Amino acid sequence: MNEQQGLSRFETLAIHAGQEPDAVTGAVVPPIHQVSTYKQDGVGGLRGGYEYSRSANPTRTALEENLAALEGGRRGLAFASGLAAEDCLLRTVLRPGDHLVIPNDAYGGTFRLISKVVERWGVEWSVADTSDPAAVRDALRPTTRLVWVETPSNPLLGITDIAAVADLARSAGARLVVDNTFASPYLQQPLALGADAVVHSTTKYLGGHSDVVGGALVTSDAGLADELAFHQNALGAVGGPFDSWLVLRGIKTLAVRMDRHNANAARVVEALTAHPKVVQVYYPGLETHPGHETAAKQMRGFGGMVSFRVAGGEEAAVAVCDRTRLFTLGESLGGVESLIEHPGRMTHASVAGSALEVPADLVRLSVGIEAVEDLLADLAQALG
Ligand SMILES: *Cc1c(COP(=O)(O)O)cnc(C)c1O
Repeated sequence: MNEQQGLSRFETLAIHAGQEPDAVTGAVVPPIHQVSTYKQDGVGGLRGGYEYSRSANPTRTALEENLAALEGGRRGLAFASGLAAEDCLLRTVLRPGDHLVIPNDAYGGTFRLISKVVERWGVEWSVADTSDPAAVRDALRPTTRLVWVETPSNPLLGITDIAAVADLARSAGARLVVDNTFASPYLQQPLALGADAVVHSTTKYLGGHSDVVGGALVTSDAGLADELAFHQNALGAVGGPFDSWLVLRGIKTLAVRMDRHNANAARVVEALTAHPKVVQVYYPGLETHPGHETAAKQMRGFGGMVSFRVAGGEEAAVAVCDRTRLFTLGESLGGVESLIEHPGRMTHASVAGSALEVPADLVRLSVGIEAVEDLLADLAQALG
């Protein structure tokens, strides 16, 4: 459909893919189909394939078609949360005895799902620094079925070369999944770089307004798409109609929001780098960042996430988080409003003591789209 209509550019797809005006009323925004079941015209006579909203719902279909278009994939699937999407992917692809490689700075919830839940079903995993392709190669086993990559990663903004790791995974007979939550499809499209599937927490940049929890999977592999769709329905953690509608509304402005996130984060990074109380700044846009060249190659901007270490250790880092007024102290990221958090005690408390532990003096920012002068002033007063 999109090619036929000449809709190929990202900003246009974001607003129009899967968003035909309503056939009955002409409503230009897909209605919220708040419904569980559908009248059949005679037994098995479904209208448009809809029979029950766990299996399919028109508002969710609109979002799923849109997500597929944005990632350049064949099929998109929407879930009740990012972790529900991850769970569906892991249970679809892995069997007892299989092995998967996970990054050494994976999202804490991903690590918890794999190490505390999936492992109990006989799946083996090991941790690798995926920013180093040689480390990924060393971690591969004959039983490896999946390589998990998060780039940029959370919270240290590590960068993995997606194309290089895709080649390694493919030659080992494993699939590559990329958690594209931090970049969003506007900045990075992993399927085009060789990934087999993309996972999102749509709670973050796609939703973009801190008002919905959701997740997504996108793939170009027809066989995998069918298996994922089967499991989405069999497991049942689907995105609801209103949640799907909120994510769709957020996506329409994704491109303009990401441009501002990129610009504001660059200014914040500049200020932090020059600040005497800041020991180190983590941002792939910095030329000194070890993944800078790879990021510049595979992303169209460096995103809105910034982490930094505060002189004076853990207590000083916690104090900075307590002192900001405009940056709101809270978990999550990717909304229009700026957030600050202490990963060691908040988002990453569940990885304490593991190979994924984060520095105690680390502060993470989700730089929002407010006036950058106000953001800079708030950080300056909080750092003292
Ligand atoms: C938030 C997040 C998730 C989990 O998504 P939920 O919607 O909270 O379930 C996964 N990966 C990354 C990178 C995240 O930031």
